[in-house]
Amino acid sequence: MAFDRYGRRIHYLRISLTDRCNLRCQYCMPEDMSFRPSAELMQDEEILTLVRLFAGLGIDKIRLTGGEPTVRANVVDLVGAIAHTPGIRSVSMTTNGLLLGRLAGPLKQAGLQRVNFSLDTLDPEKYRQLTRLGTIERFWEGLRAAEEAGLLPVKINTVVVRDYNDEDVVELARLTIDNPWHIRFIEMMPFAGATDFQTSRVVTAEEIRARIEDALGTLEPLNGGQLDGEARLYRFSHGKGVVGFISTLSHPFCASCTRIRLTPDGRLRLCLLRENEVDLLTPLRAGATLEELRSLVVEGIWNKPWGNRLAEGEIPMNRTMSQIGG
Ligand code: SAM
Ligand code: SF4
Repeated sequence: MAFDRYGRRIHYLRISLTDRCNLRCQYCMPEDMSFRPSAELMQDEEILTLVRLFAGLGIDKIRLTGGEPTVRANVVDLVGAIAHTPGIRSVSMTTNGLLLGRLAGPLKQAGLQRVNFSLDTLDPEKYRQLTRLGTIERFWEGLRAAEEAGLLPVKINTVVVRDYNDEDVVELARLTIDNPWHIRFIEMMPFAGATDFQTSRVVTAEEIRARIEDALGTLEPLNGGQLDGEARLYRFSHGKGVVGFISTLSHPFCASCTRIRLTPDGRLRLCLLRENEVDLLTPLRAGATLEELRSLVVEGIWNKPWGNRLAEGEIPMNRTMSQIGG
């Protein structure tokens, strides 16, 4: 088991399979984003070697993300190999969903258990503008395919952007009345690539919740109001689904953070909002032994930071969100 120096047991790994994406969401990356050459990204066997190493340290839960994880060649086989690694109990994915129309069934068969979708508006024109490339019809095709394949429960992440989709939160929350879906509203965070946009248009979880309750009535807390992972969960008394709020900026959840990340170029990222990373891919390619790599990981985890430094003006600028893996 791997612990950090604050006593947090780290057992959850998010792996970014690629920095590439079939969308260019305004809050995530610039329109003219350039991507790393494939040779700089972890190859399948390298990912699997690291997954085995992490599993040996007690990592039992993996989420695949990106960039857009579904644009990675061979993603179905890769999911299968990760899901069958001894020690790995759960494999899920965060995706924009556009390719799930054809991939949901094969991914489920390979061992994927759940999917978190990203959707920021129900308005087709706004969806196109915010993602710069996407069509909402393909999103709905992907979501329906995931439901049919049994990738449940369906969770939808919505990043809320002032003067863009802050009004849409009501219609998105309304979806939980008739559907057994989890809609989770996320405060926008600042990184490289779109920093001005990200810092000038933040809407706090409290404001989002007030807007939803004004329109749709009281949200009743679940879990006694305690955090469930990173989200605080609520439901409408007459609702089938769940409304969640992820308030990374206004109420950081560092005390309950049990996660680390692997970037597409093989760096162990210890906190989303801090630049600290440990390079694993370079030593792996240079012939480091598994014991040497294991020591790098154990030491990195031990030094996992606590708290962000945004209030002090320290924005993590070494990567865009898509290059870290959200
Ligand atoms: N492409 C996939 C997707 O969009 O779901 C996975 C990668 S994406 C980087 C993961 C999540 O991060 C998405 O839910 C996305 O909306 C969110 N995200 C991107 N940029 C963000 C930002 N600046 N602040 C908060 N969340 C962000
Ligand atoms: Fe792509 Fe996801 Fe970033 Fe949108 S949020 S540009 S879908 S990686």
